[in-house]
Amino acid sequence: MISAGRMVKHGLAALLPGLVLIRQRRAKHDIALTFDDGPHPQHTPRILDILDAGKATATFFIQGKIAQDHPSLVREIAARGHQIGNHGYSHLDARHASLRAYVQEAKQTQDVLQNILGKRIEKIFRPPYGNITGPSFLALAWHGFRFVFWSLDSRDSYIREPAALIAYIDSLHITGGDILLFHEDYAHTVESLSRIVESLKGRSLIFSRISDLGRHNEI
Ligand SMILES: [Zn+2]
Repeated sequence: MISAGRMVKHGLAALLPGLVLIRQRRAKHDIALTFDDGPHPQHTPRILDILDAGKATATFFIQGKIAQDHPSLVREIAARGHQIGNHGYSHLDARHASLRAYVQEAKQTQDVLQNILGKRIEKIFRPPYGNITGPSFLALAWHGFRFVFWSLDSRDSYIREPAALIAYIDSLHITGGDILLFHEDYAHTVESLSRIVESLKGRSLIFSRISDLGRHNEI
């Protein structure tokens, strides 16, 4: 059975594709790798090296509180050509936090990221746990945020053995426009990533930042 939250997200994405992104329908060959919950002092540098080696770009949805502890990592992610997105300040769940605190944390995180990077960045927001509520959706949209979810969960929160994680990704039907969810805080994700990138490239898929998805259709 499809949950109510999932129905709301997919309904909003269908009605308001510019505001809510689950997958990019106009993309033909490119997919987006996304990494949540970083930066991570050990894992982020390794992820960046693996992506460089695979000539892959990705999008990192960063928590403001962690960014403040590791500002140089945030700058490094951007310097290596990846997109930075907003994942809230302290990973509040929209279903349980007050609306005021939730919106304040999203705005605060945008300020933290922009101060670290020294420039304005696109307001793309990935709600922690993938949860939104009507009021949080309306309030953040009012403040100019665009919501980015995912069409495929790598399930790296559950599959903690690299070979099993690689096999799971290999089993997925992945096509242009898909947005894949990974997490920066798992060692097994880092261990698996090189093989996953190579395997996806073997399927003739290329990697885009969220804002570039669908811009490679001429290839
Ligand atoms: Zn998260």
